[in-house]
Amino acid sequence: MAKSAHQPFETWLLAGEPLTDDQAHALRDHLHDCADCQQLETAWNGVRQTFRVTPEVAPAPGFTARWQTRLAAQRLERQRRQAWTALILTFGVVAELILALGAQFLSVLRQPGQLLITWVYFVSRIVALSQATQSAWDTLTGVNIIFPIVGSFFLIGSLSFWSVLWVVVYKQLSARRIRS
Ligand SMILES: [Zn+2]
Repeated sequence: MAKSAHQPFETWLLAGEPLTDDQAHALRDHLHDCADCQQLETAWNGVRQTFRVTPEVAPAPGFTARWQTRLAAQRLERQRRQAWTALILTFGVVAELILALGAQFLSVLRQPGQLLITWVYFVSRIVALSQATQSAWDTLTGVNIIFPIVGSFFLIGSLSFWSVLWVVVYKQLSARRIRS
């Protein structure tokens, strides 16, 4: 077969552009008769296959899995540390609050004016702590498992504080009403 007879089929094979139905039919007919172009097609397909596959094959087998496992373990460890830090921080501030409140309860009993100071102090500490914890949590992703615990801890703490405070104020007001 003459050299010119391989055209335009060689071009079509190498260009990889979409062919019309007539062109595809002509190419199939030519490949059926022409061993040279069959060889070219096979070789070129092999080259394209190599290019397609190489990036996926490049990492050693198991590398991605090992890397992902290590990454997950590191993230879990970091989350655990963050959770412990937040819990210790929370307990520390709550303990401080209890001590401060215990010291102030006697004053509250004697001076109703102290009640407002205590209330402002408590609320400001809770707000500051919530914001600090929240911003620490915002820097992480997927850590919302712990925050509800801290949030409910705050809620329970606030509720119990308000209950105790209410009882104290109520008793004080009743005692004064009885006295006057
Ligand atoms: Zn040919």
